Amino acid sequence: MTAYAEVIGDPIAHSKSPLIHGFWLEKLGIEADYRAHRVMPDTLGDYFAERRTDPDWRGCNITIPHKVAALDHVEDRGGVRDSIGAINTVLRDGDALIGTNTDAAGFFAPIADMPLSGAPAIVLGAGGAARAVLFALSKADVGPVTLLNRTPLKGAALLAHFGLKGEALPLDAPLPPAALLTNASPLGMKGQDPLDLDLSPLPEDAVVYDLVYAPLETPLLRAARARELDTVDGLEMLIGQAAAAFELFFDAPAPRDHDAELRELLTK
Ligand code: NAP
Repeated sequence: MTAYAEVIGDPIAHSKSPLIHGFWLEKLGIEADYRAHRVMPDTLGDYFAERRTDPDWRGCNITIPHKVAALDHVEDRGGVRDSIGAINTVLRDGDALIGTNTDAAGFFAPIADMPLSGAPAIVLGAGGAARAVLFALSKADVGPVTLLNRTPLKGAALLAHFGLKGEALPLDAPLPPAALLTNASPLGMKGQDPLDLDLSPLPEDAVVYDLVYAPLETPLLRAARARELDTVDGLEMLIGQAAAAFELFFDAPAPRDHDAELRELLTK
């Protein structure tokens, strides 16, 4: 009988989570497993019913396409449905299954030291990743936010949802000056169009953050580095959201002093 956690989704073979959690379990000498488990949409309810009574199951991460549907099978003590609108982690508390979302914390950790209160920010995208980003930015009291999206109306709705001041514009609008620019769209990802922005309106101390991690150096990050701006790549958030979940599953902080080795494994 070995304690275990897992990541569920469909498809699931591509998930990096088993590598990340397995790396930390080994570093800490914790005897537990972390697996990938394919769950089809019509068996999501059965999955949670089975795991609820499995004493070895510590919880799961959730990926596409279950991040919203899983909310129907868990207690939402943190009000995630009304804020980010999707969960990426489920854990057990006695007989109860608790849903939560560690994406916002994972996104925010690398920029936690930035003086963001009242600072202008730019966000690209208005999907699930953008919701986690905007939630974190609203908690950090940033503003105004310029949200660039293929469908600006969706962006305007998200700004209103998170109570953020600012405006929603199409993707080709010129950038305003901003302290932080975050790409939360898939543009720049392998197989997608690149993100071609004129970064010249950004001040010298601006930070450019790309959630895309395949490739690790996106055209956006390359352009930011060419301008000598500080950058944060998508692996930072990927590792950060996993670290928050790891601690919930295994009651131990993830050993982040091994990040360099982990990043090498993840980019092999
Ligand atoms: P998503 O739901 O596919 O993205 C939706 C957003 O991207 C929408 O706003 C959509 O615009 C826009 N979009 C999609 N395809 C586009 C295209 N061809 N041209 C212009 N806009 C397009 O994805 P997501 O889940 O939010 O994730 C976004 C990105 O973040 C992905 O690359 C994902 O890998 C990355 N991500 C990284 C992490 C991490 O830990 N580093 C975590 C989560 C996500 P419309 O509103 O007009 O449809």
